[in-house]
Amino acid sequence: MVDKAQSHGIDLPFSPHILSSVPEPNRAATKEKFLRFLEQKNLRITQQRRAIVDTVFDTDQHFTAEQLLEWAREKDSSVSRATVYRTLPLLTKSGLVHEMDFGKDYKIYDPNYAEHPNHNHIICNDCDKIVEFESDRLEALENEITSKLGFEVESQQLTINASCEEMKRVGACKNKGD
Ligand SMILES: [Zn+2]
Ligand SMILES: [Zn+2]
Repeated sequence: MVDKAQSHGIDLPFSPHILSSVPEPNRAATKEKFLRFLEQKNLRITQQRRAIVDTVFDTDQHFTAEQLLEWAREKDSSVSRATVYRTLPLLTKSGLVHEMDFGKDYKIYDPNYAEHPNHNHIICNDCDKIVEFESDRLEALENEITSKLGFEVESQQLTINASCEEMKRVGACKNKGD
């Protein structure tokens, strides 16, 4: 089970800025963008697809395909696994949701890129707890390194694999997956 992404409003004394929740009006605007993306591709917005899209953009939590299926079925019990798996590539193609590979046997989807295109993740190796953060200093450093090496940055995300407090204290997290 993937733990909910944490996004505290804590401000550290220097630049790493832990993301606070994306405000609802902004998420609604991102959802509208995705619906327009579907229209441009001449894809019908069926009731099932609408339930999936509502689910994705009503949350700022990261999710797996199976979690999305479960949450979308709470809105509309007719949502099928096939529709979820057909809709996910559209979500990632739109650029509004990112597919992340943390080396697990499942992918994790993140709906927070529209609002925070350069945010980073710390993930616990044991329980998959995720913390998101942004850092101007890190961004500047990545830009500097990239241009020194003769490249131009298109996007930047850093993933830090780590141990959460719980794991450090007791050697395992109580919320370790099923
Ligand atoms: Zn994220
Ligand atoms: Zn942990």
